[in-house]
Amino acid sequence: MFETSIAGSLPKPGWLAETGKLWPRWLADGEALDRAKADATLLRLKLQEDAGVDVIGDGEQSRQHFVHGFLEAVEGIDFDNKVKMGIRNNRYDAMVPQVVGPLKLRGRVHQAEARLLRAHTARRIKFTLPGPMTIVDTIADRFYGDRIRMAMAFADLLNQEARALEAEGVDVIQFDEPAFNVYMEEVRDWGIEALHRAIDGLRCTTAVHICYGYGIQANIDWKQSLGGEWRQYEVVFPALAQSRINQVSLECIGSRVPIELLGLLEGKDVLLGVIDVATDTIETPAQVADTIARALTHVPAHKLFACTNCGMAPMSRDVALAKLQVLVEGAKLARDRHA
Ligand code: ZN
Repeated sequence: MFETSIAGSLPKPGWLAETGKLWPRWLADGEALDRAKADATLLRLKLQEDAGVDVIGDGEQSRQHFVHGFLEAVEGIDFDNKVKMGIRNNRYDAMVPQVVGPLKLRGRVHQAEARLLRAHTARRIKFTLPGPMTIVDTIADRFYGDRIRMAMAFADLLNQEARALEAEGVDVIQFDEPAFNVYMEEVRDWGIEALHRAIDGLRCTTAVHICYGYGIQANIDWKQSLGGEWRQYEVVFPALAQSRINQVSLECIGSRVPIELLGLLEGKDVLLGVIDVATDTIETPAQVADTIARALTHVPAHKLFACTNCGMAPMSRDVALAKLQVLVEGAKLARDRHA
């Protein structure tokens, strides 16, 4: 009951990249950068193991950003001429690369990290990839002229990488779709179909992560505008309940998501956000256990997992580590309470 994992990213060491930033600059290049990424990945693996996390990730140490890390391995994208674009329905501006030709994987994307994880932990491992809808919302299109067609093209590439990750022993493959909380109607129209294309043929556990974003100011301001109840999940969850995705990772603690919306995910594993990434205040184990108890009124215990609300990339390492420990302690307290 209440197995633990993190949504995805962890802060990078100060010798690998700039700290406290969502799009940090690397502090090495070439072979030295590859080695630094591998070293950071092993350190983050160890931190998760020592904290007692059940399903281990790479902490996304090898990617500058959760979307662009994947795109760097794709042919047909111009990274040299980034353009400013409003993303997540113009919530904030980002400098994004442009699609300029047919999309194709240049080779493997996360082979090095997957092999490292598999070789250095006996625990189950999870890998995150950006979801198709979130990718097309984080890149400028100068070639396809059609958002859906471009999303499906990306879904095929994601599937290619996901199959290879599975073959390397990855137990859980998660697609990050914060855009699902922004374009709710499109999720039903084509978002799920794109996800199905991305998981086609996989036998490992599949997950989708849908959140209200990193704890950056633009997201905090956006949340303030959403009113007393955040009901985005109400549109998206019934469609996901009908889908072939196994797990849904969602935001809960510190949010205004009505807890009864979790009941719309009948049949799915729920990776409940019990750690808030939008505040440096460290939760107590009791707060984590209480959040789990609230969810239990709508999700059966064997379907409930403890997770973070979102990635912790822009946070300080001390805060992130303390939150990892509370995640595990809180889940243990909940197990004791509900045994
Ligand atoms: Zn997230």
